Amino acid sequence: MARLLDAKCRQCRREGCKLFLKGERCTSKKCSVERKPMVPGQHGEGRKKVTQYGTQLREKQKVKRAYGILEKQFKIYYDQAEKMKGIVGENMLSLIERRLDNVVYRMGIGSSRAESRQIVNHGHITVNGKRVDIPSFSVKVGDVIAIKENKKNLEMFKSLRGMKIVMPKWLEFNSDTLTGKIVALPERDDIDMNIREHLIIELYSR
Ligand code: SF4
Repeated sequence: MARLLDAKCRQCRREGCKLFLKGERCTSKKCSVERKPMVPGQHGEGRKKVTQYGTQLREKQKVKRAYGILEKQFKIYYDQAEKMKGIVGENMLSLIERRLDNVVYRMGIGSSRAESRQIVNHGHITVNGKRVDIPSFSVKVGDVIAIKENKKNLEMFKSLRGMKIVMPKWLEFNSDTLTGKIVALPERDDIDMNIREHLIIELYSR
């Protein structure tokens, strides 16, 4: 299966912002974006002039890397968003945000989206009582997301018990029962990352 192979911190430095790909390290002083805030590579500091196309491309790459999505899947989200009512860019971000791996991350079950994807891949998550091991699975309002009953005592989930987890308003998570719920669809202001989605739309509309 195709994967994003660039070292995680290198991807953040390339995009010039924190993409939060490494869990706890991202909020510590060890974060590479804070320690070395320049584009990686021999000519990193010398790269100054960026074309309009380059700006649009970087914005798309930033979102793809933050959510760990490859080009083909990303284009599918764009195509779907175009067919929906409303603003294409906002629709696209909402579709991406509804991925099961992202929901597991937002609920605080995984410390990063990559770890959350692994948790889903390993079959630790159920949706409405059924095991779902597809990270791109799209959740809908009313879905109940839970850690599989016989996995709740795994060391990696024990620390979640009783924890106060800050999450967007479209989600609920009970850290005593390790069960969450989708209470609404994500809206634009639920996505805290600095994304200029109109640039991505302009890129695909070329
Ligand atoms: Fe990005 Fe996290 Fe690495 Fe910082 S520590 S550069 S936010 S992956």
